[in-house]
Amino acid sequence: MAVPFRRTSKTTKRMRRTHFKLSVTGLTKCSNCGATIVSHRVCPECGYYDGKQVVDVKSK
Ligand SMILES: [Zn+2]
Repeated sequence: MAVPFRRTSKTTKRMRRTHFKLSVTGLTKCSNCGATIVSHRVCPECGYYDGKQVVDVKSK
């Protein structure tokens, strides 16, 4: 098995790991009001789903 020629420095290791990021998935924009919503869910802001009003949202 190959062995690394040099030890990876702390800085090199840390710089490499700056690219290891978690990303939030499953978020999208409401097609009606543009709010950021969880996909495949009724929009909590306007009550729209699949381009139709499916839930009455209480007036604020
Ligand atoms: Zn909406």
